[in-house]
Amino acid sequence: MSLIELKDVSKLYGFGDATSVALDEVNLTIEQGECVAVMGPSGSGKSTLMNIIGLLDRPTHGDYSLGGKHVSRLGMNQRAKYRRDRIGFIFQAFNLLPRLTALDNVCLPLLYKGMSTGKRNRQAWDMLERVGLGDKAYYYPSQLSGGQAQSVAIARALVNNPALIIADEPTGNLDTGSSRLVMELLSEIHKTGNTVIFVTHNPELTRYATRVVYMQDGAIKHDEQTKLGEVGRYARAVMYTVPETTEDDDFAGVSAIMPVLDKRAEAEKAKKSKATKRKPRSRKAVKR
Ligand code: ADP
Ligand code: MG
Repeated sequence: MSLIELKDVSKLYGFGDATSVALDEVNLTIEQGECVAVMGPSGSGKSTLMNIIGLLDRPTHGDYSLGGKHVSRLGMNQRAKYRRDRIGFIFQAFNLLPRLTALDNVCLPLLYKGMSTGKRNRQAWDMLERVGLGDKAYYYPSQLSGGQAQSVAIARALVNNPALIIADEPTGNLDTGSSRLVMELLSEIHKTGNTVIFVTHNPELTRYATRVVYMQDGAIKHDEQTKLGEVGRYARAVMYTVPETTEDDDFAGVSAIMPVLDKRAEAEKAKKSKATKRKPRSRKAVKR
């Protein structure tokens, strides 16, 4: 049995002429223990997909089963209960409550469970220590850096020990150093046996994933297994703007579109091929 099974899941917004299709008959199966990176242009349906998988939203059509249970038709209260026990959510904007300390923010999911204060605090404290913020328990969100705030949000998502962690652009508001820290935390969670799904625009971060799913126009365009530590194939295509071609290939392309350059290109080519034989051009990483 797979942890997540989406069958022909669609999500429509609006009515009549104003209808927009956020998800278009998506089929997706995710096994327990996978770490899935979701990529794709903005507006391609990534958040809609995360919200449906995370039971924050319901599909318009199609079926969703989570842990073998058909959850797409559950009412709001049942969904909330299911979510609370099984899913940890991490958002780009951290979504911490500003008037609560880090510790109290982490306690929240346990409060809804009706756990005693002492037990709650102990569990939340342990979790804060696990994300390296034991000394910031009494800080308010405004007193924390972005990376620290997101670490608190991760502690809050984990305090219930959920089987599934969903992170929608968790590093979208963070600098490179903090992004790394947050991804290392998520990676550690994955390595202890949890299923993690995260949305990212940064191809580098697919190194933390075992699978990369690419969305476009509400549909999954590519889906590939990757090795931990390696950048996905399509992610790499986004990263390197210079394709893997030789200079000869480049000249061929230029002459094809600009006949005037033809003679010059030919001359250059003759000179080049005398000096060197089809030397592959080095690929340049482009910072995004
Ligand atoms: P992404 O996260 O990939 O940027 P979203 O899932 O947020 O994409 O959005 C997918 C599409 O659905 C977009 O065209 C967006 O405008 C539309 N959409 C998302 N949420 C709503 C909403 N609440 N009402 C109307 N349209 C929405
Ligand atoms: Mg989004």
